[in-house]
Amino acid sequence: MASEENFMRAPAPSPKRTIYTEAMEIFHRAADLIGLDKRVRLELEEPDYEHIFYVTTKLKDRLVPLAPEEAKAFSDLSVTQVRNPDGLERLADGKIILNGRALLGSDVNIRRGHLRLPDGGVYQLVPGESQRFKAYRVQHNQARGPYKGGIRYHREVSLDLFKALAAEMTWKTAISEVPFGGGKGGIQIDPRQYGREELENITLRFMYKLKSMIGPNIDIPAPDVGTNGEIMALMLREYSDGERERHNLRGIVTGKDVRIGGSEGRVKATGQGVAYCIEDYYADRGESVKGKTFVLQGFGNVGSHGAAILANMGARLLAVNDADGSIYNGDGIDVHALMAYVSDPKNLKRSVAGFPGAQKIEKKDLWEIQADMLIPAALGGEITADVAERLKVKLVAEGANGPTTPEADRVLQKRGIDLIPDIIANAGGVTVSYYEWIQNKRMERWSESEVDQRLEKAMKRNYRIIRDISRNQPRKTDMHDSRGYCISKTVDPRCAAMILALKRIEAHYMLEGFSQ
Ligand code: GLU
Repeated sequence: MASEENFMRAPAPSPKRTIYTEAMEIFHRAADLIGLDKRVRLELEEPDYEHIFYVTTKLKDRLVPLAPEEAKAFSDLSVTQVRNPDGLERLADGKIILNGRALLGSDVNIRRGHLRLPDGGVYQLVPGESQRFKAYRVQHNQARGPYKGGIRYHREVSLDLFKALAAEMTWKTAISEVPFGGGKGGIQIDPRQYGREELENITLRFMYKLKSMIGPNIDIPAPDVGTNGEIMALMLREYSDGERERHNLRGIVTGKDVRIGGSEGRVKATGQGVAYCIEDYYADRGESVKGKTFVLQGFGNVGSHGAAILANMGARLLAVNDADGSIYNGDGIDVHALMAYVSDPKNLKRSVAGFPGAQKIEKKDLWEIQADMLIPAALGGEITADVAERLKVKLVAEGANGPTTPEADRVLQKRGIDLIPDIIANAGGVTVSYYEWIQNKRMERWSESEVDQRLEKAMKRNYRIIRDISRNQPRKTDMHDSRGYCISKTVDPRCAAMILALKRIEAHYMLEGFSQ
């Protein structure tokens, strides 16, 4: 008969590994090291709230291109001359959205639901139907201030992923000393498959539902993967339109266009924060960014602005990739020309692929390029143990959230590759989001140089505290004071960053206590 003692000793079934449990490994390691208060640990281990809801919308009619083989069956179909070509919105996947009365007034030749456009292609006319999307908002922790974090529009999202990203925001806001907690959310959608007005309707409907869960002093969304200032403008409108104190609600989202209450410098802020950390990393070694080479993974908001700022500091971009291709130029890629190429409306996929100033390479080869640093600035989990074994760089600076798996982390350490962890490296975005939020509250407008100066100080001060924790070197300088954070032993930088976050969060619980 199993005694109680035996029962107590039975090994707990090992929990399934998920993105969230992987992301929390570092939390547990740091919590163990500092002896984090047990109750604080329980508070932080799981989010405060996990919202899942649904958003429906009516899609527009679209034209779906036929493959050349299928089009043969319509070889004698004559061309439909479109009178209102502005109503046709071409998507990255070749489909065309029919906006407004795109075909009105045209002599439409339709056979079995197909028509031929002046481009010669045969398209199937697919009537717009209603569609439902799964939406999320995870509110992880608010011990230090309102929940804060981005809205992601991406095909591969899940509650588990948003939990990981929301927790990461809690650590990031603590590290960057902004008075916020952590949250994250978004919609399971590939935004490239939908037209502008469809995305507008989906966003408005999303905010219509989200409205009861958030507020400028409760939970403040911002852009993330697949969203931008335009999406934030829509969210602001849906939240505030018709409200009596509409202008007090401007801080409901950050990352807005500067003309409607956004902050100067917000768009480039995340990439700029990565660059400031890198600059400080080299300054600490008595070196400079000038002449250093880097490989970049991802050329979205973080990657492109980070690369442009590093290029301005004198570094050379050797290779970059995105979901549609990888490019390389040993003499250095002209970052500004690449930005222009990617944002050209003719470049429907907004991809680096085909950039004339570089040669095409395979994605797997990107990892083996010899350079001073690698900046992952795309999605999470890209640097696996296998990738980490192949890298020929001396420093990894994480622009993305969670790009390195725990196994890869150990490989980087074993191989002596330095790391600037995500929760400090990419904290520039949320830091300037905070500046935007204060400006909204005060009805102020700060200059770009003021934002830049504040951001540089905040990034470097907190990065230095993390370095000191890592080296167990408590000290006070004009810029920073790491004395309250070192733990009498050296730790790796990711752990050091987490220690800084946990100590700052724990102080709130210990000093304020718990309401029962
Ligand atoms: N999505 C960004 C991040 O992951 C910014 C969040 C914000 O500004 O609130 O840090």
